[in-house]
Amino acid sequence: MGQAPARRVAPARRVAIVGAGSSGLLLALLLQRQGHQVCLCERAPDLRPEGCGILLVRSGVEAIAAAGIPGLLEEILAAGLPVSRFVVRNLRGDLIESSPAERAPDEQPSLLIQRRFILEALAARLDRGVFRPGAGLLSWSQDSAGVEAHFDDGSYWQGDLLVGADGLHSRVAQQLAPLRSLNFLGDRVWRGVVTDGSFCRDGEFFVYARGRGVYANVFDLGTDADGVPLTHWGFFQEEVLPADRSERRRLLSEPVPEEGLAKLPADLAALIRATPPQRQVANWSFDIDPLPTLVAGRVALLGDAGHAMSSSQARGMTAGLEDAVALAAEASDGAGVETALLRYNAERLPVVHRYQERSRQVSARTGRLRRPQVAAEQGPGATGLGMTPFSAAGPAQVPAAA
Ligand SMILES: Cc1cc2nc3c(=O)[nH]c(=O)nc-3n(C[C@H](O)[C@H](O)[C@H](O)COP(=O)(O)OP(=O)(O)OC[C@H]3O[C@@H](n4cnc5c(N)ncnc54)[C@H](O)[C@@H]3O)c2cc1C
Repeated sequence: MGQAPARRVAPARRVAIVGAGSSGLLLALLLQRQGHQVCLCERAPDLRPEGCGILLVRSGVEAIAAAGIPGLLEEILAAGLPVSRFVVRNLRGDLIESSPAERAPDEQPSLLIQRRFILEALAARLDRGVFRPGAGLLSWSQDSAGVEAHFDDGSYWQGDLLVGADGLHSRVAQQLAPLRSLNFLGDRVWRGVVTDGSFCRDGEFFVYARGRGVYANVFDLGTDADGVPLTHWGFFQEEVLPADRSERRRLLSEPVPEEGLAKLPADLAALIRATPPQRQVANWSFDIDPLPTLVAGRVALLGDAGHAMSSSQARGMTAGLEDAVALAAEASDGAGVETALLRYNAERLPVVHRYQERSRQVSARTGRLRRPQVAAEQGPGATGLGMTPFSAAGPAQVPAAA
């Protein structure tokens, strides 16, 4: 645990970071090393390492390198596998395209890696006492002198800077950007990790192009610590989002439906069926519209809280890591908190807007053809949920607390 703190130029600030995902963890680590008094508040009782495999694209690996934390880059590179080839097939399994993932010798690779390895490598370097699990943010307020926050364990925090790294359903963002709403992208998504070393080999990434209401991807995850080969898969099925929240939750506990698997090549369907339920996760796919700002006074948004986007570009985690490096750099000199946040906003807002726009363009080109649907609520007092045209298959808006 713990590294020697880097030399601090800025005065020590009291910083609360809400959310211990990859974005919040990296920022906590960087600010702690600058000598700030950091509290990383997480609603869950512990780190949430679920989420299977991800493709961390080159700029995400570069962000980890730029963080300059001794041993971190090496540990993450060793835990992942450089992607070697992208292969696109149709749902019959016929090859459409195969291209090598090229890189110059001095460039970082794009990495296939289990999300939990990134979280664990970051958490292991945090000083004891920085991480406060079981503290869900309820609300915050600020004035020119400081910012304060209230948590659902009854605790109260007061300090200089509050950062919302609390993900797609961000509480911090609900107050900072009240018009922020979630857009349903049209899919129920399952992801899993299965013991297999034959489907993809040596860093291959397979995409099964969308058709007949489904889409899938599969990639090599190398081996675990005991040398057991692992493969990640993702399966996307077009569905109407139920209006009822308990029904949404119930559906996420179901395994991938057999009628969906029947649309896949038999070998891929068998791979998915062979995955133990405890090694699968499911969610509904959402993004948010580009926000007009990532900051307000002493409060900033980081990662998905500020710019959740579809997985079509595999940019989500990368963008949050880049945010963390940028915000820590702005906090490292003697500028006031509000000035540092304005500089962070000026640097990151155009970048994340470009990522969000590009993700939607790619989704529109390669994604579903029918517009996603949200079921109207039934019963007295129920209101239908609005649909926002975005593109031919644009997203459908739902309230932020979906
Ligand atoms: C199907 C799918 C595939 C994806 N594939 C990729 C990929 O290949 N590559 C990639 O780069 N990205 C991918 N992503 C996106 C990536 O997972 C996210 O962008 C990234 O994990 C966001 O990190 P974050 O730290 O900003 O938020 P999160 O990881 O969501 O962390 C937020 C944290 O905040 C906590 N929290 C929430 N509310 C509160 C509260 N009120 N108080 C305290 N704590 C709170 C949560 O418990 C959580 O721990 C994918 C996403 C999906 C859904």
